[in-house]
Amino acid sequence: MPSFLDKVKEAGKNLGEKIGDTVETTKLNGKIGDAKKAIEDVYKKIGEAAYAAHKAGEKLDIAEHLASIDEHNALIDDLKAQIEKIKEEEAAKKEAAKPPVCPQCGETVEPDAKFCPKCGAKLGE
Ligand SMILES: [Zn+2]
Repeated sequence: MPSFLDKVKEAGKNLGEKIGDTVETTKLNGKIGDAKKAIEDVYKKIGEAAYAAHKAGEKLDIAEHLASIDEHNALIDDLKAQIEKIKEEEAAKKEAAKPPVCPQCGETVEPDAKFCPKCGAKLGE
């Protein structure tokens, strides 16, 4: 029977893993938020440039601002792809962590079981 300390350690380990899983995606989501904010700033600059050009009677040139928005949007796409990849990896990890099954009857068995509880087949090597 596991001691209280073992249980605490185990709980801490699981908690750590859970946090580890989300830290990276949280970070990436934060970067997406930053990029979106940066785009809003560019929109603001476009508005300011539009009025400044109007007031000075000059032609409005916002090509640089538009290129900047393109860059930020490309960054957001890249970050979203990274998050998607992490999620896929997590799903694959969960799939791999599924309990073993009996090769004879397909019954789910304990990882350390020596015989299948259903059909009695010998398990493991
Ligand atoms: Zn079996």
